[in-house]
Amino acid sequence: MLKWLNASMTRKISGLSFVLLSFLLIVILYSVYKLQSINQEMREVADIDIPLTDTISQIDKYQLQQDLLLARLHELDAQATLDHEQQARLIGRIGRHTLDTHEALAQLESIIQTGLHRRRIRLDIKAHRSLVQQIHQLRRLQQSYSDQTIRIIDQLPALPKTLWAPLHQQEAELDRQMSQLLAQIETLTQTIATTSEHQERNFMLINATLGISALGIGLYLTLYIIQSFRTRLGHIQTQIKNLQNSLHHPATKPTQPHLDGPSKTNSTISSPVQAQQNGFAPPRHQDELSGLEQDLRQMLNHWSETLQNRDQVEQHLLTLATTDQLTGIFNRHKWDEQISQALDRATTGEPFSVLLVDVDYFKQVNDQHGHDVGDQVLYVLAQTLSEHLLQQCRIFRLGGEEFAILMLNTDDSAAQKRAETLRSLIEAHQWAPLPSITISIGGSSYQKPDNAQSLLKRADQALYEAKKAGRNQVSWH
Ligand code: GH3
Ligand code: MG
Ligand code: MG
Repeated sequence: MLKWLNASMTRKISGLSFVLLSFLLIVILYSVYKLQSINQEMREVADIDIPLTDTISQIDKYQLQQDLLLARLHELDAQATLDHEQQARLIGRIGRHTLDTHEALAQLESIIQTGLHRRRIRLDIKAHRSLVQQIHQLRRLQQSYSDQTIRIIDQLPALPKTLWAPLHQQEAELDRQMSQLLAQIETLTQTIATTSEHQERNFMLINATLGISALGIGLYLTLYIIQSFRTRLGHIQTQIKNLQNSLHHPATKPTQPHLDGPSKTNSTISSPVQAQQNGFAPPRHQDELSGLEQDLRQMLNHWSETLQNRDQVEQHLLTLATTDQLTGIFNRHKWDEQISQALDRATTGEPFSVLLVDVDYFKQVNDQHGHDVGDQVLYVLAQTLSEHLLQQCRIFRLGGEEFAILMLNTDDSAAQKRAETLRSLIEAHQWAPLPSITISIGGSSYQKPDNAQSLLKRADQALYEAKKAGRNQVSWH
């Protein structure tokens, strides 16, 4: 169930991440595309519209000058006489004015032509082309008006009214066409500026919407991941607590982890009473991760303590299983194990010997002093022999008042000498207040191809011979 929850959670997070990244990609692509087109529009405004507007105001000025020149012509016409110098100055002014107007119109044409040629003009191309035609026409009209004006100057003063009429007509037409052209250019530049402004506003609006949506998805994704993370932590903590519960109270049925939401899980976690019962209660200010870490550490401590205790119990059981309860020395089980190990090593050439020790007339000790005293005698005997054993020797109680001594790495003669030392040690021991005893020892050393049975049989035979020979002595076989 948890696995499925995990998988579905991961799928959902990946899906949300994918949507978020796609959204961000769209925002970036849209921004790049829009910024490029806005940049082009700005260049169009800078390269075309601004120079156009400048030239228009220039032409406006020339139009005014043209009106003034016409008014001056009328003034001169009203005079009685007109000298040649005045006439020449006037013609010169008209020539300059015509040239200036021509240049301004040529400038207009050149700006539009270059814009069209370099594809800077992207809006209303058709209207721009028609402007070029109109400029051509205007230049011709301007030229013809200029020629006609110069012709009139030649005939000044007191010109008949009939000659003025065509000039006025032409001037009105020139004015009309010029105003029309300027108005059209102004409208076009305004349209471009408005479109560009509109596009910028749209760009800002759409980009802001996309950005806010991406931010929303990002926030939701982050919250979802945090919430999922907390839920998972809650599950893990509940499971740890269940484990702790079952370790502390094995009979208690563990709580089922809540899979239906973090609130229930958290309530399980933060219950201080339960936490104290469990033996761990993370402080309130700690976050979930610190709490989990503390729980895990306590659980590990508990386990390591349990394992340590188990090791100690095992060690204790092992000691119990291999120790004789009365004397505290090794018992028969240990003897079996040790003799078999000694036999294994003997095959590689390491010598060893075995002594069988039996208390002489022990029945009498029991009979005369009681079984408890008999026990004490056995205990003292075992301890005394143990204390005087060499480092490579071990003593075992085989049963009753019989003991065995395993002499590792000890050959025949060394073992016989050591057996005699032990026998005399017991004979000379100060037994009081316990009754004195002696021991008989039957010994034998490992001979190929001995096994435990054959070796013990020889030692037993030797013990029998020691008894038969009068006891309190060592016999060797
Ligand atoms: P021998 O010199 O021939 O060995 O004479 P013995 O009296 O020792 O002969 P035997 O082996 O027949 O007797 C052993 C006695 O040891 C018999 C039994 O009551 C006594 N015994 C065996 N185990 C214990 C024990 O754990 N405690 C006491 N107090 N006596 C035991
Ligand atoms: Mg005996
Ligand atoms: Mg005996």
